[in-house]
Amino acid sequence: MTRRKLNIVKVGGAVVENEESLQSLLKSFSGLKGLKILSHGGGKIATKIAASLGVESKMIDGRRVTNAEMLKVVTMVYAGLVNKTVVARLQALGVNALGLTGADMNIIRSVRRPAQPVDFGFVGDVKEVDTKALSKLIDAGAVPVLAPLTHDKEGSMLNTNGDTIASSVAQALSNEYEITLTFVSDTPGVMKDLSDPDSLIPTITKADFAPLVEDGTISEGMIPKLQNAFDAIESGVSRVVITSVKDLEGGTTITA
Ligand code: ADP
Repeated sequence: MTRRKLNIVKVGGAVVENEESLQSLLKSFSGLKGLKILSHGGGKIATKIAASLGVESKMIDGRRVTNAEMLKVVTMVYAGLVNKTVVARLQALGVNALGLTGADMNIIRSVRRPAQPVDFGFVGDVKEVDTKALSKLIDAGAVPVLAPLTHDKEGSMLNTNGDTIASSVAQALSNEYEITLTFVSDTPGVMKDLSDPDSLIPTITKADFAPLVEDGTISEGMIPKLQNAFDAIESGVSRVVITSVKDLEGGTTITA
């Protein structure tokens, strides 16, 4: 059986937060032919809204600690404000967007990450993606827009990294679809030197990755992003790219 083509695009927090870059990405996304899914990050807007509500943001190693109060804020902001803004913009561009968290139709079930060695609070590690439910929605003409939230199926929402959501969904659907997974971030791709826009690394393998982390070339959010990218390419996803809003076709190609 030939697999149908499916584009899964993950758009990062920094892109979502910038009016111009978000609109540019959504326009490119609306122009993609065929079946597609958009997954989005959260960005710093949750920190701002938390502060205005008197909820303190705590970070460990640049990652958010999600206590019970912060879980309420990220649920409001990611599933509400951010997700619905993206859905409304896509509808205006003629895309039949349907905003979802992992709890909706039980699309993504996760388990709360153990409190050891670091307690990140209500953070979920993905366990199961309901590919049948997602396929049905896609076949019905919907374009799912996934917020960075999952649930434990015991009544709790869990904050979940958007890159991991995109990669997990891509892996789960790869039996059925020929998938291109595109991570859109605020750099042209994986760079040799972040201050030099001409230093794009056009292709990267897992063997290239470790020494580049070791010598500090690749750091911060790019480390887990690449890990999610390698997981996808090793699990049946046909093409994985890390790029910017400027060029959805360009950027860094991940090879197995
Ligand atoms: P997003 O929120 O867009 O998904 P992240 O902030 O998690 O993305 O990760 C992207 C960030 O990783 C870039 O903005 C950049 O600051 C950082 N980074 C670190 N090393 C590199 C590198 N070698 N190439 C590109 N980005 C890098």
